[in-house]
Amino acid sequence: MFLLLADMLTVPDLIRKKRDGGQLSDDEIKAFIQAVKEKTIQDSQIGAMLMAIWLNGMVSAEIKALTREMMSSGEVMEWPDEWKNFMVDKHSTGGVGDKVSLVLAPALAACGCKVPMISGRGLAHTGGTLDKLESIPGFKVEQSREQILEILDSVGCCIVGQTETLVPADRVLYALRDITGTVDSLPLITSSIISKKGAESLSALVLDVKFGRAAMCKDLESATELAQMLVEAGNGLGIRTAAVLSGMNGSIGRCVGNSVEVIESLETLKGNGPDDLMELVTTQGGLLLVMTGLVSDLSEGRKQISEAVVGGAALSKFQAMMEAQGVNSDTAQRLCTTNTDYYSILRKAKHQLELKAPADGIVLEIDGLVLAQVLHRLGAGRSKAGEPVNHSVGAVLLVSIGQRVTKGKRLFLLLLMV
Ligand code: URA
Repeated sequence: MFLLLADMLTVPDLIRKKRDGGQLSDDEIKAFIQAVKEKTIQDSQIGAMLMAIWLNGMVSAEIKALTREMMSSGEVMEWPDEWKNFMVDKHSTGGVGDKVSLVLAPALAACGCKVPMISGRGLAHTGGTLDKLESIPGFKVEQSREQILEILDSVGCCIVGQTETLVPADRVLYALRDITGTVDSLPLITSSIISKKGAESLSALVLDVKFGRAAMCKDLESATELAQMLVEAGNGLGIRTAAVLSGMNGSIGRCVGNSVEVIESLETLKGNGPDDLMELVTTQGGLLLVMTGLVSDLSEGRKQISEAVVGGAALSKFQAMMEAQGVNSDTAQRLCTTNTDYYSILRKAKHQLELKAPADGIVLEIDGLVLAQVLHRLGAGRSKAGEPVNHSVGAVLLVSIGQRVTKGKRLFLLLLMV
């Protein structure tokens, strides 16, 4: 028996409508997502609809309705009235060595924002913020709604995993997109990302849309198209939304891998961060401060974020966040001390391999995609959701682009467990 939808359209009617290039109405999208949520529609029918969307795309009214209905498929968080203008978050479409969240969340908290950062795990070659944080002994990324409220009240920021009740429709659709070859559809990516941000009830959101060899979008044009869709969908939910387009050919900073990225983030919070990471943190943070009205222009926003990072206020927030999320206070304190021995706390790789320059020359480029793929194979990432990752595997880049090197100069340090 087929499910009856608004205006008596059956599910096959709806699939045919989208397959033939039609535009789904708000009610039709609502009925589809309801059926997904209530499991009154078969997986094969969901797969067919996803493919019809992949093939024909969606106009902005459809994307807006899909995003809204996905968001409403589960719990939508509620915050105290006095926080409402200051709830902020960011999302990156995924980079190599992308540790921006680890520095930005505490910096924003230090500047007066509330940051309920719901992050993801790494899949394929891209790393995940949650995996990085879990290399810190005791760090718990699963936190209940009540715990999130408590941490935001006492610290101002938390970095947590998605709860079971948040956007359940996305869980179903994402799993089916993965097995039906429909992950790389801009409307589906947009509704998936923005529905989850909508469920966080944010006042402002910044999106870091990456383009280049090591990014999902290979060129500026496709990144621009995705950015426009994301911004429109975010604003459609009433979230002040902005996007930053950033190049992603090599890596962000010098460290790639789980523990090493935590170390580089802590060093950044101690004022020793690489320029490219600081640029991303201050730009995205500065924009969020402007969007919340905490500052009147971007240069002031960048300045405040930079001062929070370099002056140590963000480090104090990171330490408090670690403690609030389960890290023993002695461990948190030692990690945040200058000149600490990180490897007395974080697990060290068993072996190190130095990669040396085969000849004299100049470093012209660094292929972030190849680097990430190698580290993924060595155990830093996972191929299937749920697989464990090896936190110690990583790489440290020892040279910069444009640097002249002589034969035998050390280029990379590979940290291996094998
Ligand atoms: N991240 C998401 O949450 N969803 C997508 O579809 C892609 C990236």
